[in-house]
Amino acid sequence: MEVPCVRVERERGEETRQRLAEADLLAAEFEIEVADGNLYLPVTDRDRVPEDLPVVSRAVGERDTPDTPTDLLGYEPTYERLGDIVILDEDDPEQAREIADAVMSSDIPVKTVVNRASKVKGELRVRDWEVLAGDGTEASEASRGSEDGSSGTETVHREYGCEFLLDVAEVYFSPRLATERHRVAEQVEEAERAFDMFAGVGPFVVPFAKRGAEVVGVDLNEKAIEYLRENARRNDVADGVTAIQGDVREVAPEYSDWADRVVMNLPHSADEFLDTAVELAGDDCVIHYYDIQHEDDPFGPGEEAIRAVAEPEYEVEVETRHVVRSYAPHEVNVCLDVRLSR
Ligand code: SAM
Repeated sequence: MEVPCVRVERERGEETRQRLAEADLLAAEFEIEVADGNLYLPVTDRDRVPEDLPVVSRAVGERDTPDTPTDLLGYEPTYERLGDIVILDEDDPEQAREIADAVMSSDIPVKTVVNRASKVKGELRVRDWEVLAGDGTEASEASRGSEDGSSGTETVHREYGCEFLLDVAEVYFSPRLATERHRVAEQVEEAERAFDMFAGVGPFVVPFAKRGAEVVGVDLNEKAIEYLRENARRNDVADGVTAIQGDVREVAPEYSDWADRVVMNLPHSADEFLDTAVELAGDDCVIHYYDIQHEDDPFGPGEEAIRAVAEPEYEVEVETRHVVRSYAPHEVNVCLDVRLSR
């Protein structure tokens, strides 16, 4: 069966295998193959593979034992994996149940299967979920706990060597942004001061702190901040992280003129927080501004909004215009890396 595989020269095989395993991208149900001096490493999601690794379709063997959901269903279902939770986005309830049953009966390591029951919504950007199978199935709400005290919707997700505990029913989290977060984290330098205005459970904060930055993360969501503190501990960076629950507009005055780097991952309304970002910025500061715009002019509105707030106090230089992913038909999620210099 043809599956997406990362192709690397044999000598870089183990290093690449580890990179993919850390990002939870290796498809364990398929064999890794060697041919013509190259290694073919099967992956679970070609869209999340870092850009520097070529992905090809290749017929590889299935491992002896596993039954995959595809084997059991006779067609290939669409799902995403987040730790030991499998996430469906299925409108037809019968099909959702059929896929959930197949996933549970398959050999992929899974605790719970959930289906998206709403869009991300409200200030906290949390979605509703229907728990289809596994822990918490009998619960009326997705977040009801199981016997060990943890919820069926709580899991540990790994990306790029960091570990994140989170509950999808309580906080925003998207594993699809792993490559983007890594792109930004790689720009962070030792001892710099970084401020994440909408920090969630810490997928920017933790890797920044791992690179030696002093990091402040703020979020309105109390649960997200509890997870952020726990994730800082789990990844041995608690000393470099300050996690604050609250509205970033109220927290900002304490950190006025403070930041070398500001992350603004609240794509639909980041423009409303630009005055706060500029308040946080020190003399030389890079802002990572996330936006969702029409594909005809994905960067123009963001750049204009930033200039309107930061100039003339700061000189504004757009260092990177980056398309993160397509968001909806004709709409893209983008990031502007913008340097403000005073
Ligand atoms: N950066 C995280 C990530 O990549 O997973 C979370 C991003 S999520 C799109 C936006 C976050 O902003 C949510 O966790 C939400 O609770 C938080 N938020 C929304 N309005 C806020 C505000 N005024 N002050 C602080 N946090 C806010």
